[in-house]
Amino acid sequence: MTEHHARKRFGQNFLSDPNIIRKIVDAIRPAVGDTIVEIGPGLAAMTDPLVERLGHMHVVEIDRDLIARLKERYTPERLTIHEGDALKFDFGTLGAPLRVVGNLPYNISTPLLFHLASFAESVTDMTFMLQKEVVMRMVAEPGTEEYGRLSVMLQYRFRMARLFDVPPGAFRPAPKVTSSIVRMVPLPPDQLGAQDEALLGRIVAAAFGQRRKTLRNTLRDFLDEQDFAALGVDPGLRGERLSVTDYVNIANHVAKKGVSA
Ligand code: SAM
Repeated sequence: MTEHHARKRFGQNFLSDPNIIRKIVDAIRPAVGDTIVEIGPGLAAMTDPLVERLGHMHVVEIDRDLIARLKERYTPERLTIHEGDALKFDFGTLGAPLRVVGNLPYNISTPLLFHLASFAESVTDMTFMLQKEVVMRMVAEPGTEEYGRLSVMLQYRFRMARLFDVPPGAFRPAPKVTSSIVRMVPLPPDQLGAQDEALLGRIVAAAFGQRRKTLRNTLRDFLDEQDFAALGVDPGLRGERLSVTDYVNIANHVAKKGVSA
């Protein structure tokens, strides 16, 4: 088969280091009977050992050339190929409980994580390779430079752990940055706590929209001085000082005000 030329627009960097591939697959711990979907199988570096252990799995791939290769390589009994954009894919159609894995295309990682978060209720766990810098933002603690909207919105819904780093040399072509493996496990729905999740999202976006400004400014559409006092939150702080629980409390306070107003 002819060589595949990596396409930048699809964020293609293919894993080529067998030790790293083994380490990632071991971290996923695939077991017969699991329903696993891989986003962006590419040249099947991870797909091969996963299918070997599982017998059957799903993949979502956008690149037609790569899809043609996958069709030549696997029978439909071993691999169900969903052709198209993972950003638009309805992961709910694969049934629950679902496990999601992938060496994600870095150019769409943030919108993809938000899209996937909307299927959290059908998912057991997700194990992804992402740019290390993005993983550091996902797992960041309040008060740190990396802590922001991505940290709050994902930590609201998932328990997350950075498992290990992967150097650029493990890929062909080599990316410019170091990558990390992150595991995301959805929290039980009764532990989430926000009465209106869309409102929580709007408040968090506002709080981090202008990082240099204080909450008094960024949240002025939601809270007045009395609200800050009732919540026990100092309006002179910046958004990065508040915990996920603080944001949930704020959202629920605003939701209650809206109802009683
Ligand atoms: N899993 C392979 C590996 O580890 O060698 C390839 C990883 S490569 C970083 C990203 C893969 O995602 C490529 O196969 C690319 O074509 C695919 N991809 C890019 N954008 C996509 C999208 N929107 N939906 C589905 N797949 C996409």
